[in-house]
Amino acid sequence: MNLKSFKCEKCGASDIVYQLRFYYIIGLIFYSFKNGRDHFRCEEHKGIRVGWFEIVTCLFLGWWAHHAFLWNIEALASNFRGGIIVNANVSSVSEIQSLIKVLGVKEMRTVEKTVLAILKKGDEAIKPLIEALGANKDPQVRLYSAYLLGEYENPLAKEGLQKIGLKDKDSEVRKQVIKSLTFEKK
Ligand SMILES: [Zn+2]
Repeated sequence: MNLKSFKCEKCGASDIVYQLRFYYIIGLIFYSFKNGRDHFRCEEHKGIRVGWFEIVTCLFLGWWAHHAFLWNIEALASNFRGGIIVNANVSSVSEIQSLIKVLGVKEMRTVEKTVLAILKKGDEAIKPLIEALGANKDPQVRLYSAYLLGEYENPLAKEGLQKIGLKDKDSEVRKQVIKSLTFEKK
């Protein structure tokens, strides 16, 4: 995974973006040419159509030399599969959001590991945790979000616990919120 962040060339999304490589081949008797072009696309905008230019080039110009002919078969095969994923960028916020979902699983070992993984993300996790505390339907996810928010020194975390957590409809979650708010840090 690359830490450099790219944006979708179509819509500007930066959540999950793929670097897709499409090949185009030109073959003219003694001349064989192969090159790749990279496109940056989100989940919604990836697909075969991204590489229409490369596909058309292959279909018309790729057959007419020995090397090119062989390359062309390979290139078309990968182009028709939507290009080769050279790289993918997942923003850390969406990574944290997927980690938070895992807080709801039954397997406690996994939950513990996930708690640690979220803590490692530092203050960036605070906002997604507050969102989860306010909106996640699973009380277990809200409970662990409240627990995690209690681990931050950042006033934003306390604010989220007070404003959102204390109103939780689940009494176990509320208990954790109070614990998180009052816990004395060593
Ligand atoms: Zn897009």
